Amino acid sequence: MTPRRITLLAIALLALAWPLLPPFTVTLLDYIGLYSLVAVGLVMLTGVGGMTSFGQAAFVGLGAYATAWLCTSPTAAQALGMLPVGALPWLGLVLGLAVTALIAWALGAVTLRLSGHYLPLGTIAWGLSLYYIFGNLEALGGFTGLASVPPLSIAGIDLSSPRALGVLIWVLLLAAIGCLHNLLDSREGRAIRALRTGRVMAESMGVDTGRQRIKLFVLAALLAAVSGWLYAHLQRFVNPTPFNLNIGIEYLFMAVVGGSGHLWGAVLGATLITLLKEQLQDWLPRLLGASGNFEVIVFGLLMLLVLQRAADGLWPLITGWTQRWLKPVPRRGGSAAPAELPRRDLPVPGQVVLDASAVTKRFSGLVANNAVNLDVKAGEVHALIGPNGAGKSTFFNMISGVDDPTSGTVSLMGQPMAGQPSRAFAALGLGRTFQHVRLLGQRSVLENVALGAHLRGRRGWLSAMLRTDRREETALLAEARRQIERCGLAEYADTPAASLPLGQQRIVEIARALAGQPSILLLDEPAAGLRHLEKQSLARLLAQLRGEGLAILVVEHDMEFVMNLADRVTVLEFGTVIAIGTPTEVQADPRVMAAYLGGDLPGAHA
Ligand code: ADP
Ligand code: MG
Repeated sequence: MTPRRITLLAIALLALAWPLLPPFTVTLLDYIGLYSLVAVGLVMLTGVGGMTSFGQAAFVGLGAYATAWLCTSPTAAQALGMLPVGALPWLGLVLGLAVTALIAWALGAVTLRLSGHYLPLGTIAWGLSLYYIFGNLEALGGFTGLASVPPLSIAGIDLSSPRALGVLIWVLLLAAIGCLHNLLDSREGRAIRALRTGRVMAESMGVDTGRQRIKLFVLAALLAAVSGWLYAHLQRFVNPTPFNLNIGIEYLFMAVVGGSGHLWGAVLGATLITLLKEQLQDWLPRLLGASGNFEVIVFGLLMLLVLQRAADGLWPLITGWTQRWLKPVPRRGGSAAPAELPRRDLPVPGQVVLDASAVTKRFSGLVANNAVNLDVKAGEVHALIGPNGAGKSTFFNMISGVDDPTSGTVSLMGQPMAGQPSRAFAALGLGRTFQHVRLLGQRSVLENVALGAHLRGRRGWLSAMLRTDRREETALLAEARRQIERCGLAEYADTPAASLPLGQQRIVEIARALAGQPSILLLDEPAAGLRHLEKQSLARLLAQLRGEGLAILVVEHDMEFVMNLADRVTVLEFGTVIAIGTPTEVQADPRVMAAYLGGDLPGAHA
């Protein structure tokens, strides 16, 4: 049995049982489906994308109110007089989606700039505001709400009963899960997965993380709006209560308890919370002898317990138990013949690829880079050395768009790069690694490396959801595998990156940079943590890349490694360049000797 078969079997069983289930169970399943639609959006937003939102209930409200208003308001009836009544709810859906997309985009543009705890606080703020807007708009019936919302019908089939509407609810939910599953399993999915912990890294791979975050936010809001639309036509009336902040928090419970990073965890969480709420609302008031929403307290405790015991929610626990009986899913590459990936023309050997001129960086009082001049040519290895704290990593950030110099200019492939984000550097062919390794530890080496090829693919979200990206995806994964093999890590391609020793994780970063087919490679201490033989094979790889015409700038402490490999060496001390020249010239320079404790360069062979 594969997980896929089990899923299909469960769906088939549900479908077969559907006509026979008692009405109460059907209604309960309808609500579980509706909540799951919202929770699955939150799993994408919070669990995968790292953006916590307490305000999703408000988007459910937008979807519900849009259709309720359109179907009941005399103004709308006048404007749409000639339309058949059956078409109104569908127009309501379109209106709800449009309004939600617009509002979510605007709110996202403001809120997503907030960092840390301010983002969840921001979502609370607009969650509350929208709730009060629903309650205070006269056109929306105030706190009494709108009644006589008509039932849905599709092509003449009446969906007024919970059993009939439930079919639509679950079809939409399963379709959403399918599409989101496909999305996560794609080029764009790799970018989305990097949003939570690897934004600086993802930008350096060419991902526009701000845009991806907003799209994810709008997507989650749209799923909530669809849920609200269905809810309005199930209940047949709407008022503000189900869209308040409490419910927003419950949606978050569902996503977190079920498994914040797992799509099916949303369904699990929605089921658990719905069933629990059902029971608790019966028992708690009797137990406590007073009425009130006491279940919220239990949910809070439950969430604390789950976060303590199983930080990733309950879904991974369940899949962990069942793993014994399940066959692992074979890595899908798609059977389609791979597409051709675009290749850039490499610069001719000797051409200046990167030119930094008088680059200065001040951190308040400290001058980390002081008028540094440095260029890197195609077909050379240029080493940047200097004691700890000399400003090497800072300089890397200046020339890769991670940070802006206080003064001075950087040009890449002849283009001035002032104020450009690091993804613009990536687009011009700059590949880099980080001194402190930045990999997605839980994802496979293959996926990490494939992210490096992000800019060589074109297919977007829709294409990924509908799986029309398979030729390109096959090509991207094949390219990632090629680079992994080239770097000597073929046997680890399918293991999680975090399970490799740190030294090899650095090599994974090199493979990731190479997957972007760069014309210049910036390596920050690539040999740190490698054993002697591994250093030798790294040196061979870099020499080979130089032979192919790449420009390579490397920061490294291992002087034997540097002096044997580099064509030119620039020495930095206290942010200032104190020497530049061939390895032999630099080693003979008295200032360099002085900088290195007044003696020989450690480990250097003259
Ligand atoms: P290296 O990579 O050569 O060891 P760094 O570039 O990391 O040196 O650091 C150079 C100097 O700049 C150090 O004194 C460091 O403390 C300081 N520095 C680096 N980044 C920052 C920052 N974001 N804010 C303040 N000081 C910084
Ligand atoms: Mg450093």
